[in-house]
Order: sequence, then structure tokens, then C-alpha cells
Amino acid sequence: MTTAEPGMVYLVGAGPGDPGLLTLKARECIERADALVYDYLANPAFLEFAREGAELVYVGKKGGCHTRTQEEINRLIVELARSGSCVVRLKGGDPFVFGRGGEEAEELAAAGIPFEVVPGVTSAVAVPAYAGIPLTHRDMTATVAFVTGHEDPTKGRSSIAWEHLATGVGTLVFLMGVGNLPNIAERLMAHGRSGKTPVAVIRRGTVAEQQTVTGPLGEIAWIVKEKGLKAPAIIVVGEVVSLRETLNWFERRPLFGKRIVVTRAREQASGFLARLTRLGADCIQFPTIRVVPPESWEPLDRAIRDLEAYGWVLFTSVNGVRFFFERLEARGKDARALHGARVGAIGPATAEALRARGILPDLVPDEYRAEAVVEVLGKEALEGVRVLLPRAEKARELLPMELEQRGARVDVITAYRTVKPERDTTRVRYMLERGEIDLITFTSSSTVSNFLEMFPGGEDALRDLMKRTAVACIGPITAKTAEKLGFSVDVVPPLYTIDALTEAVVDFFSQPGAQKSAQPPPGRP
Ligand code: SAH
Repeated sequence: MTTAEPGMVYLVGAGPGDPGLLTLKARECIERADALVYDYLANPAFLEFAREGAELVYVGKKGGCHTRTQEEINRLIVELARSGSCVVRLKGGDPFVFGRGGEEAEELAAAGIPFEVVPGVTSAVAVPAYAGIPLTHRDMTATVAFVTGHEDPTKGRSSIAWEHLATGVGTLVFLMGVGNLPNIAERLMAHGRSGKTPVAVIRRGTVAEQQTVTGPLGEIAWIVKEKGLKAPAIIVVGEVVSLRETLNWFERRPLFGKRIVVTRAREQASGFLARLTRLGADCIQFPTIRVVPPESWEPLDRAIRDLEAYGWVLFTSVNGVRFFFERLEARGKDARALHGARVGAIGPATAEALRARGILPDLVPDEYRAEAVVEVLGKEALEGVRVLLPRAEKARELLPMELEQRGARVDVITAYRTVKPERDTTRVRYMLERGEIDLITFTSSSTVSNFLEMFPGGEDALRDLMKRTAVACIGPITAKTAEKLGFSVDVVPPLYTIDALTEAVVDFFSQPGAQKSAQPPPGRP
């Protein structure tokens, strides 16, 4: 899409890291951008909102290592805008809070380029909130200040009025201050702030790696040094820090700090991802299966033509429902075509998918396995009844076999196939090497076997890597496949549903010493 307003620049705040803290307007801008100029702190997940073909330019700074100078960034933005692009300058937090957004806006104003500012959720407020620290409180303080900690107070003249700041403001929030913490603490105490004032230092706030260290002002510098806490971090000084003891909600969530890989197909993963994320996990979406149509529609078309002849239509997966109904529609039919048949669903998600298509399933077994369906169906007279099973190409044979033993005439029809996606595995491998993945979840046998195959040439090495990562499988069949392929399985829920799997994962991590790696891997607390 070309923009309706050529040469427009949006200075957009991306928030402190939690994807949920991106504003609706920021997302809209990212979706519309021809060019995205972004920083290190902006969550890379946001780039996925960019439209295909948008130009992505990284100008981030990390640990003082600048890929471009501020002047170069300014020039780049002006040039991009002049070439007629809709430019989004994406910045961490809020663009006008220590983000040099002001300077960039001045540059645009001077160049006569129209711009808009999209405020973001600043880390100065959000990060303390995620550490359970309200910046003001009626019983404690009515004032708060945001201060740069970047300035070295021992060198030259300070632009910060320490003598006023130290005792004149209740809560002090320092950004970019970790390196200078000893000086900051010293300055504040030298100007009258009590060494007993509680302080919190919060690193990588609002994301799974959030780490908080607290202590009194007089000791915080060496505590932080001892814990090895590095930038980026927010420092909060003031009585409000003591509220964290009761208000620390984020770090207390059951899956806080756990990094979990979800290998489900992209179309199906969202519910599971949302559940894990709500419980505090940092999820990595790494689909190891892709769902595609069958090589030929001919068998399914034939079954659709003959639908009247079937006594039962049994769906064994959400995908089966989806492809069946899409094909039905493509043949000019709808749910009414099933009026003569009884319809069964294995599993609550499959049942839900049927309901969404206007079919209330006649059968949903209490247990969500093929074996259980046969048992329930066993009570029905199946002699001579035709049963249609629209399902995946390589599915298990047990169900049709058992049905046939009970006298049914079963047509197993391929409604879809699952294939292995072409995917770059570098990031996941790197994280596995560093012991940064706590758990990998598998929701079908092919998610496991494809996972293994996706790391070419290094299967043995991968198995080795996996020793430091826990494995969760949705049911015993998936678990058996995983074990056969050399993984040791830590979590299998009693019911084979995503809810039960989520619950089992929470239970697993609530046990002391649940982690496979006895020692914390490098870089993780
Ligand atoms: N404009 C940004 C601040 C940019 S200055 C904002 O409004 O948030 C960069 C500093 O922000 C870092 O040095 C650190 O002090 C702070 N910061 C940004 N994101 C952070 C995060 N997720 N956790 C802790 N500190 C963060």
C-alpha cells in the first residue's frame, strides 16, 4: 500500500517491551509504514506488523556501540521522508522521554517535513509498575521525577540540581543509570537523602527476563554490583519501593521467567500461546508443522458428493473440520449437507470448531483419544454403517481398524496434510546452546519428528542440547514418539487438551528443582 500522505514521519513509542503495551495507534502506524527506522529496545516482534516489502532500517544502540550517529539517523529519516515514504521512527518506551525524539522532531520541523508523535508507554512508569512499585502513593509521596542517570556527576558541572532533587522530590526514577549507580547514591546521600531509603533496580522490565534487585540507598550500589545487574535498567528511589513486597504481581505469576517454545502449526498456536503468556511465560513461536491441502481433492469431493450415504462423520481434529467445510463450501454446499449423518468430534477443540460451523456434535467422548471414541461408539450398532473420517494424511490407523471390527464400513479420506516448514533454526539453536529455553512443547508426533529433522546434520547434538530443556507432550502417543527419538519427556497431562497441558506445565514448574539444568545457564539469573 502506498501512503496517502507522502513524506510523513511518525515518531512512535513502542513501549517498554511487553508486546501488549504497544498502543493501537503505534500498531496502525507500523502496519502502514513504507519504512521503519527502529532502535535496539523496541521489541523485535513489532516488526512482524510491518507490511511485506516495507523497508526495515536498524539504527539501534547497544552498550554504547552505535551503528549510526544521531546526525546520521536524523539525515536518514529526512531523506526517506523526502523520497515520499511514510516513515515510522520506532523508539523504545515513549519517544519524548529521554529518547532524543525531541531532537528528531526539531530536525523534521527544520526540514519542513510533516510529522506526528505517537506517545508510548514509557519504561519510567511501566517498569516500576511491573515490579509492583506505584510511583506515587497518598501515604508516601505526592511527587515524582524522571532523571537521566547517564550524566557522570563527578565530571564537570552537573545539569542536575542534586541539592533540590535529593530531598525535594519523593520518588526518583533514574533511566540509563546502572553504570553510574554508585555516584548517584552518593550524590543523593551527600545532599541529605537517608541511606535507608529503599531502592529498586529493575532490569529488562515488562518482559520475561525482568530482574529486580532491592536494597537501601546506602548499600544498593554494591548489591547491584554483586548480583551483576547490567543495563538497561530503571532505578527507583523512594519509600514507594517498599510497596513491592505486597504488590509484586508480575514476578509472582506461575510461569514468570520461563521461556517456552511452542511447535504447533501457526494457525493453531494462538490459544495456547495466549494461555502461557498470561501465566507469565515468554513464548517463542516455532512451528514445526504446516498444514496444507491434500495433493488431490478427488477423494474428499467424492465423499462430499455421497454424504447422504454416511451414517457417521467423525472429525478427529480442528484442521479436519476446517478443510472439510472449506471444501464443502467450494462445492457449493453447507452444513445442511450433513443433515442425514451423525457427527462426532474427538476432543473439545474439534467439537468447538464444529459448533462454530453450526453443527452440535452428537458425540464427544469423555476421553480424547481414538480408543475412547471406539468405546463410546461400541454401544451404537455399527454393523453395515458407513463412517466417514476426513482427517490428516498420515494419521493413526487404530480408529478405522476398530470401527471396521465392529462391522462399520470406513472411508478414511485425506482432508489435509501436515508438512515440515522451511525455517531458519539459528535463533532457537543459539538459545538452546545457551540454556535459555526452559521447555519445549509438542502437540503431535509430527511436531516432534519435524523438530528433530529441522536441525540438519546435528540430530545427536540437538539431543544433547535438549538435555537442559524440559519437554512437554500433549498425550502419551506424542510422548512415545518423543522418547523413541531420544528425548526425555517431563510433562504429559492426564487429559489430552491444551488446557490440561497448560495446567501440567504450571504444575511442573511449581515443583522445586523442576528445571533440568541444575545450574543457571550463563546470562540468566
Ligand atoms: N524513551 C525511553 C527511554 C530511553 S532511554 C522510554 O520512554 O522508556 C533508555 C533507558 O530506558 C535505559 O537505559 C533504561 O534505563 C530504560 N529502559 C527502557 N526500557 C527498559 C526496560 N524494559 N527495562 C528497564 N529499563 C528500561
